[in-house]
Amino acid sequence: MKYHQGSTILLLNILLIQYASGQTLPPASATEDWSTKPPVVVPAESAELPPSDAVVLYSGKGDLDQWEHLDGSAVKWEINAEGMMIVPKTTDIQTKQKFGSAQVHIEWKTPDPKEDQGMNRGNSGVFLMGLYELQIYESYNYETRIYYNGQAGSVYKQHIPLVNAARKPQAWQSFDIIFAAPVFNADKTLKTPAYMTVLHNNVLILNHVELKGPMVYQGFPKYEYHEAKMPLRLQEHGSRVSFRNIWIREL
Ligand code: MG
Repeated sequence: MKYHQGSTILLLNILLIQYASGQTLPPASATEDWSTKPPVVVPAESAELPPSDAVVLYSGKGDLDQWEHLDGSAVKWEINAEGMMIVPKTTDIQTKQKFGSAQVHIEWKTPDPKEDQGMNRGNSGVFLMGLYELQIYESYNYETRIYYNGQAGSVYKQHIPLVNAARKPQAWQSFDIIFAAPVFNADKTLKTPAYMTVLHNNVLILNHVELKGPMVYQGFPKYEYHEAKMPLRLQEHGSRVSFRNIWIREL
């Protein structure tokens, strides 16, 4: 009873001070937002599977009819029991459908290092909008085979990943990407740049990093006007990297 009296007196004191200083709080309902009811999305049973509103671009089984080479020809990459695998010298592939800002899940694995030596080991890449490269590379027990903004999970030649979360070669790995597309003004100048957040094997490696422009191998990136939606592209860089469970949610 004594405690109850004490807290009642304290509350009265607070109200009295607020009243005296003109700081009366608005009703709690003033900060309740009823404007937009979030649509229902049914989550999958496990993290690699697509939620109900995702576009499945490749499940790991079946054909590649949602994909094409950049010249529009049918995909010449290999389909095997585990997924699709790059066939060297066949060139990059891209989705037939176009996307802007998106959440992307993609699983990949690099080949046996004995068959994939050198500087180029496990090199591929996920190009958001066909332009902005999140690097795929064999980076387990990583030494100095390549500059740090060229290892797995880098925004190629722009951002070093926060940590190296790579698995061993031939193990399946995942990227979960949150990509904000760049926005251009009516006069085609840049309004806001692209941003990327990435989890590599469920570990945060890029935290809302600002992209400097499309990937360029030589020279410095800069933005040039492009469409609001573009294909998602996978890089063929001579290494037999495999893919499965690719899905995307437009934002
Ligand atoms: Mg690459």
